Amino acid sequence: MTPTVAAIIWAVGLVAWVVIRAPHQRRARKIRTVSDARTTADRAALGAATVGLSIIPLIYVATSFPAFADYGFKPWMGWVGLLVEAGFLSLFYASHKQLGKNWSVSLEIRDKHKLVTDGLYRYVRHPMYSSFWLWAIAQFFLLPNWVAGLAGLIGVAILYFFRVGKEEAMMRQTFGQAYDDYAARTGRVVPRPW
Ligand code: SAH
Repeated sequence: MTPTVAAIIWAVGLVAWVVIRAPHQRRARKIRTVSDARTTADRAALGAATVGLSIIPLIYVATSFPAFADYGFKPWMGWVGLLVEAGFLSLFYASHKQLGKNWSVSLEIRDKHKLVTDGLYRYVRHPMYSSFWLWAIAQFFLLPNWVAGLAGLIGVAILYFFRVGKEEAMMRQTFGQAYDDYAARTGRVVPRPW
C-alpha cells in the first residue's frame, strides 16, 4: 500500500458515494414534501460536511496542497482506511435502500412518510450518519495530511451535532409516542449494548 493507492481508494469512495446517492436524489425530487424544517444554518452545516469530505481532500489529492501539513504515511494506515471505507459504503448503500422514499438530503417530512424501524434502523436511529462518521475516519487514515485528513471529521461533526437533535425533534413531532418508543430501544449511531 502506497500513499498514491490510498488516495485512489479515497477517490473511488467519493465516486461510489455519488453513484449510490444519485437514484435516490432523482426519486426524491418527485416526492412531495409535507413539512420542511430546513434552515439556512442546516444548509451551512451540510455545506461544511461537503467542504470537509470532498472539496478540501480533492484539492489535496489533486495538488498536494497544503504540503506543510503532511506526515509520514505507513502502509497499515492505507489498509485500515480501505477497511473503514468498505464499511462506510456498505452502510451508506444499505441505509439508503432501507430508508427508501422517506429519505431527504435535509430535514423534511415527505408525503406518506413512514417511520422506518427495521433493518439497520432496528439497531440505530441514524445509520446513514454512522456511515458518514466512517467515511470521515477512512479519509483520516487514507490521506496523510493533518488538514485534508481531519477536514472530514470536522465537517461531519458540524453536520451531525447541528442536525441530529433537530431531526429527532421533527420526527417526534410527526410520529409522537411511536418515535419515543423507538428512540428508547435504539442507539443514535452505535447500537446499544443492552
Ligand atoms: N438520520 C437518518 C436519516 C438521514 S436522511 C440516518 O442517519 O439514517 C434525513 C431524513 O430522513 C430526515 O429528514 C427524516 O425525514 C428522515 N428520517 C430519519 N429517520 C427516519 C426514520 N427512522 N424513518 C423514516 N424517516 C426517517
